[in-house]
Amino acid sequence: MSIRNYKIEAENYLSDKFAKLKSKTKSGESTCFFVPKLGAQESKYFILGLEHNFYSIDEEGYVKSSILPPPTKPGDKQRMITLYWHRQGKRYLYREGVCQLSTVTYLILNRGWNKDSIFLEPDISNYGDLAYAVDIIIKASQGKILVCCEVKKSKSELDKLIKHFKYCSNIGPHERKSCKYRQNHPKYEMCAKYEPMYFYVTAPDNEICYKLSYNNGRIFSEELWDLPHKNQISFQG
Ligand SMILES: [Zn+2]
Repeated sequence: MSIRNYKIEAENYLSDKFAKLKSKTKSGESTCFFVPKLGAQESKYFILGLEHNFYSIDEEGYVKSSILPPPTKPGDKQRMITLYWHRQGKRYLYREGVCQLSTVTYLILNRGWNKDSIFLEPDISNYGDLAYAVDIIIKASQGKILVCCEVKKSKSELDKLIKHFKYCSNIGPHERKSCKYRQNHPKYEMCAKYEPMYFYVTAPDNEICYKLSYNNGRIFSEELWDLPHKNQISFQG
């Protein structure tokens, strides 16, 4: 039995899409750059998610999926995530998006969550000011948020987020405008408000998970290697 090279498969898939898009728009870089490089596990779950039809990428690079919010206008298509950004006449791979999709697939195929309990880019209609505060949430059937998940494009960004999350958690209630780490502060606020059991952070071939407990707006985090399998977590619904 031959072993699949998912990294090559993912690179080829994303490069082909990139080339097709470029030929349509006559603009952009000639090569699809992967910065940072795709991870082995990241590539595997990205491809498996396509094969299981958890999501698809359309001819314009937009991600179509029931895990994403529906189109804002009836009859329109989903435009929440495009894997190819277009800026100043150049096209780029939205590197973090690949890791987001890979993480979703990992949660379903490896961690036992049902696709219907996972929400990518939880949006403004549900979370107001905290829309998009985190990339992915997992909900119990009665609506309680069990896991908040944030995806970063690199290990260094992941480390920075953890440092900032711990800083905010340790202080307890405070406003974003007065926070030293405004960029990552909403992750703390989302957790403080909805009190998920876990905060799970991924980056290409990196992950870390915290079991959270709460006391008057302060958050205490116990570090775990990975998000436990759904069957190992006891929760209602
Ligand atoms: Zn803060």
